[in-house]
Amino acid sequence: MSSIHLCLISVSDEGLSNITLSDEETMDPELSPGLFQGDMALTNDFYNFWRVGLKFDIFPDKLWKNGVVPYTISPLYEPSELVTILKAIKLINFMSCVRLVPWDGNAKDYLLIWPIKYPKGCWSFVGRYGGAQILSLQPPDNKGPNCLGTEGRAIHELMHALGVFHEQSRWDRDKFVKIHMDNIIPQFKANFDKQSLDNTTYSFEYDYDSIMHYGRFFFSKKKGKPTITPKQPNVKGIGQRKAMSKGDCMKLNDLYGCYKTPAKRRKYYNICNFMGL
Ligand SMILES: [Zn+2]
Repeated sequence: MSSIHLCLISVSDEGLSNITLSDEETMDPELSPGLFQGDMALTNDFYNFWRVGLKFDIFPDKLWKNGVVPYTISPLYEPSELVTILKAIKLINFMSCVRLVPWDGNAKDYLLIWPIKYPKGCWSFVGRYGGAQILSLQPPDNKGPNCLGTEGRAIHELMHALGVFHEQSRWDRDKFVKIHMDNIIPQFKANFDKQSLDNTTYSFEYDYDSIMHYGRFFFSKKKGKPTITPKQPNVKGIGQRKAMSKGDCMKLNDLYGCYKTPAKRRKYYNICNFMGL
């Protein structure tokens, strides 16, 4: 699967002294305190499962059955915000065999997409939790974080809700990134934990371009001090919140069994290649 990584699209941000941090880096809406890795709500039970290694073949109930995910969207959103959320949903529906469908009022399990006030920000449970399941996307305000500037953050949280963890928490990540523990705000060090070897097996290569990867300065104590940097040569940017990468798209389709027939495999492989960042 290495071919999907040949096309690195990244902005050049070499030379730390030249970096002007964007608002996105300094005040990231995924960085809600009190949530696991900033934007994942985990119950104690689930956290323990995760710590010992969550595998979807061992915990199949965390996946949405038949890839169908009913959702309902808060009426509190402005029309433009609603459009951003629907764009994210349509992209996932197009790029994978997952089906996000409007809740019919009957299905037991569904996503409740809502601008939750406490804790604020963009956050989600990981995988299907059961019952009405909050996915928080906070609309922009004067100084608060914005989860709805583009559809990227909505896609990121939806990917969590579909069962995908942060890319840099992969068990093999130390071959690919260096974590600068000294630069991390102390209470957030655990956000950089990695998964155990027993965790989900990975059919795809480490993906620096993933929409699920942290950026270089996430949870940094001080401006310009990176918390995570690439180890492999020729990697410039890490993490983005624009679109699913080719790898994200392949991974999601793999997770939901979208490659059942050769024709389907070809279809989604092509879509991921054409539409993945
Ligand atoms: Zn996240």
